[in-house]
Amino acid sequence: MSAALLDGVATARAIKDELRAQLRELAARAVRPGLGVVLVGDDPASAVYVRSKTKACDELGLYHETAQLPASATAEAVAERIADFNRKREIHGILVQLPLPPQVDAASVLRLVDPTKDVDGFHPENLGLLVQKRPRFVACTPAGILELLERHQIVLSGRRAVVLGRSDIVGKPMALLLLHADATVTICHSRTRDLAAVSREADVLIAAIGRPGFVRGEHVKPGAVVVDVGINRVDDPARAAELLGGERMGEFARKGYVLVGDVHFPSVREKASALTPVPGGVGPLTIAMLMKNTVNAALRACSASA
Ligand code: NAP
Repeated sequence: MSAALLDGVATARAIKDELRAQLRELAARAVRPGLGVVLVGDDPASAVYVRSKTKACDELGLYHETAQLPASATAEAVAERIADFNRKREIHGILVQLPLPPQVDAASVLRLVDPTKDVDGFHPENLGLLVQKRPRFVACTPAGILELLERHQIVLSGRRAVVLGRSDIVGKPMALLLLHADATVTICHSRTRDLAAVSREADVLIAAIGRPGFVRGEHVKPGAVVVDVGINRVDDPARAAELLGGERMGEFARKGYVLVGDVHFPSVREKASALTPVPGGVGPLTIAMLMKNTVNAALRACSASA
């Protein structure tokens, strides 16, 4: 068997196209959704992520503003920028790019975001609403994965879903979304015993652990749907060749590294019925869902003030 590829780029494009109609509606009411980004420090990966997000805003015509702070910024300085975005009427959605430097506690800072502008869905109020199946803003990566599965008519009700990883950003909200879609859900983490035996029970397997090529053919039930959330940079050529089964080595030679997922693509492709590629799978969906959440935040703000 060779798995069908679940194309995140095409799904993200479809989501953005649907948003254009809502944006026209908002424009008729003189509203332009706006995203405020807080970027602390000079982590190159964070800078790349922020650039892709603001590029998506430009593509759709959303307003955006980035508050850039040095790596030495205090928690108070970060709090001030968040408060500033909380106050601004033209900012409907706020995102604090993670990771933050060690002196700034991420959980404390994320609580300061106005929950009605929390388009990343990280505020405890929004996580609580998700637990209660009354979602307002859901974290963009798991929300995007659910859209991808639904738009590919992948049945979740009654099926076994296994989520590898229990972060607040991906694993936990993903498990809740699958549960609410009536799947029977198991969450695995670094202390799970015989993880391969658990993951082999999955009809739908979500890998979000940040370990390049960790999920191999032996972790996958024949015919399972596998979603690869991982984004890992590999700069050792022998390791890259093993992880990629010799493919994409031209890309490696050009860039000196490749991005790979948590799934060992060559062996899992032979077992799964459907699989997301890296790149071009979950990543573009995360950005599309951020745009969707920001447009929804603007629509909510409009109806609240009407
Ligand atoms: P994280 O906060 O580091 O969490 C990793 C989770 O994986 C933890 O729950 C950890 O278990 C578990 N884990 C680590 N090693 C494991 C092992 N050997 N066996 C079983 N479980 C293990 O990571 P994250 O933020 O959720 O991100 C996960 C991956 O997704 C990363 O590669 C990240 O870059 C990527 N990501 C991609 C997108 C996207 O848009 N595509 C968005 C977000 C994240 P413990 O809790 O026991 O430590």
